[in-house]
Amino acid sequence: MRIVIKIGTSTLTYPTGLLNLRHVDKLIRVIADLKNEGHEIVIVSSGAIALGAGKLGIRRPKDLPGRQACAAVGQCELMYVYDKLFGQYNHTVSQVLMTYEDVDQPVRRQNAVNTLETLIRMGVIPIVNENDTVSTEEVSIGDNDTLSAIVGRLVKADLLFLLSDIDGLYDQPPKDHPQAHLIPVVHAITPQIEQMAGGSGSDRGTGGMVTKLSAAKIALESGFAMSLINGDRPESMYQVLKGDPVGTLFIQEGKDLR
Ligand code: GLU
Repeated sequence: MRIVIKIGTSTLTYPTGLLNLRHVDKLIRVIADLKNEGHEIVIVSSGAIALGAGKLGIRRPKDLPGRQACAAVGQCELMYVYDKLFGQYNHTVSQVLMTYEDVDQPVRRQNAVNTLETLIRMGVIPIVNENDTVSTEEVSIGDNDTLSAIVGRLVKADLLFLLSDIDGLYDQPPKDHPQAHLIPVVHAITPQIEQMAGGSGSDRGTGGMVTKLSAAKIALESGFAMSLINGDRPESMYQVLKGDPVGTLFIQEGKDLR
């Protein structure tokens, strides 16, 4: 299977902006193992801004140039960690930084596809992030949930794993409603489903569920599945691939993962 794995800042770092080594070690071991099993892997990783701020010993800046500077510092740190940890398992990684124009303009999009396909064919793991250092707010993809679904569409993925700090999609925000139920499977992003995420266009605190549903929409429209699971338990990826109900699986009606 061709699998895109989106790793969020909350999975990679502590609120201090420093690496959560316990999570990262476990996660990379599982991903390296999935690759050994024969799956093709593309990673979309956040964390540049947080790691940069952590390394500089400052809070996440409120101004754009400040965040761009942090991303420039943190992206090095991010790739250093991936290179080192995947290297332990003999896997080669590559850095792919993309901007909105790279996915919007046909020629540049084709260029990006050619590079990604070549890297995958070479057995390399592409690690994609938005090129935050040069992307301004007006012309940016904006969030890596959406970027990961776009990358999934570019490489014609079979499955996108969104590793988050939430166990899946709940019928109401679990923080305020302890009786909330996890929705195991979603076949279409209906207004009712959007309601569960806090309503479309809103970013009310359900763990950024709105951008996760945008990603799911792109996945369903493009014909690949998306699995939303908790990044604290990367072994869940094995279970999802076996067909066990873990997290929320967004998949077209009548399709299954194999
Ligand atoms: N590109 C940002 C970073 O690496 C993260 C964007 C996101 O988390 O959605 O810090």
